[in-house]
Amino acid sequence: MEFAKKLIESNPLFNAGIGLGVLGFGAAIFRKGMSQTYKILQKKYIISMEIPSKDPSFPWVLDFLSKNELKNKMLKKNKSNFLFKLKPLPPNKLSVNTDFIKRENGSTSHSFNLNPGIGSYFSQYNGKYFFVERTREAKMIDLKNGSPWETLTLTTLSMDKDIFLNILEDAKKEASLNETGKLVLYTSWGVDWKQFGLPKRKRNFDSVVLDNNIAENLLMDVKNFLKNGSWYFKRGIPYRRGYLLHGPPGSGKTSFIQALAGELDYNICLLNLSERGMTDDKLAHLLNQVPPRSFVLLEDIDAAFPARSEATENTTPKSMHPPLLTLSGLLNALDGVQSSEERIIFMTTNHLSKLDAALIRPGRVDVKQLIDNVTDYQIKKLFLKFFENEEEKSKIFLSKIKEIMLKCNKTLSAAQLQGHFVLFKDNVDEVIENVDKLFD
Ligand code: ADP
Repeated sequence: MEFAKKLIESNPLFNAGIGLGVLGFGAAIFRKGMSQTYKILQKKYIISMEIPSKDPSFPWVLDFLSKNELKNKMLKKNKSNFLFKLKPLPPNKLSVNTDFIKRENGSTSHSFNLNPGIGSYFSQYNGKYFFVERTREAKMIDLKNGSPWETLTLTTLSMDKDIFLNILEDAKKEASLNETGKLVLYTSWGVDWKQFGLPKRKRNFDSVVLDNNIAENLLMDVKNFLKNGSWYFKRGIPYRRGYLLHGPPGSGKTSFIQALAGELDYNICLLNLSERGMTDDKLAHLLNQVPPRSFVLLEDIDAAFPARSEATENTTPKSMHPPLLTLSGLLNALDGVQSSEERIIFMTTNHLSKLDAALIRPGRVDVKQLIDNVTDYQIKKLFLKFFENEEEKSKIFLSKIKEIMLKCNKTLSAAQLQGHFVLFKDNVDEVIENVDKLFD
């Protein structure tokens, strides 16, 4: 024993080994201590919130974070950040969310929304720093709309969980603020409805000039329907109403529906029945999932029917086609709306005669209204909308137009008139002098 002790003491290699061993042991204990402390800190002082992409608050918070970054940038411009090491790192990866609509008549619209992309960054809100992480599952998709599964995680140093509730409330408030006084347009996204672009400024109800009392009567009809929910429920009648506006293009059918929605504080769910991948089941599902306070708008309904349904139903065996929307599918979807909410469906067409009688029978279409080319009443009213207080000139304009109309046996759409007024908006006399150009 004595010999072994002497050997160790006299051997420098042994000494160094023991020293290293002690050091390693110390480091291990320190590491363990640190990780325990981190775990305790994490348990007590680090809180995080996960928002999955299927949660309704997901787009609100994403949007809110983008706007918050803009505010932070502006603040930073105005005062230097003394906490330079913790300067918020704005996301350098952005993701674009493009909304695109192709209407039945071929016209398209789009809008781009920029959001923080996949990745992580620091953000600051109400004096607190947050670690924001947006992740995307490589292999998981939301089966309802085919979009990838994502999660947004916010992490911060705090003991107060209300901090996240405040963010959620503020994000919701901001989203609603964007919508107040505005019209939200939804389009179908898989079997879900998705907001199309940013909320739009409402169109003034009076800005769409229809012939005598048509607009007022339609407004009254919708208002009456909305007042009478209990009448329908008591009698077990489905609480829905269908409107069909028909007439030549450019007469104001779509504009009127938008103005009416704005007047009643409603939004619009725009559905393109000719859209690729539209099937009977998908349509039925969509019509039963309409967001609250929204009209469903089926534009140019004749473009989807009857030609396509004939092709699929009569000439080709069903098995040779991928499932498509059929006329009977549309009829079933219109009849099968089970929602306890009221359902208001607007359809438009330029060709009433092309529509299947079954589609426009009462119960599916309760009010049919012709929105025609302009009458004398509309010509005068539209003129005075563009050239206020020019009563005398409106009469001259009207008599000139009528003379030409009679001569060439033509009528005009409100859209044509509007174009003429815009062209000569700076000079009312030129509007009158060039009236024949309207018929070129
Ligand atoms: P439709 O749906 O009947 O084809 P739109 O509503 O799309 O017609 O109208 C096309 C354009 O013409 C819009 O810019 C709209 O402002 C204008 N317009 C059409 N009809 C009217 C009307 N009756 N009053 C005011 N503007 C109109």
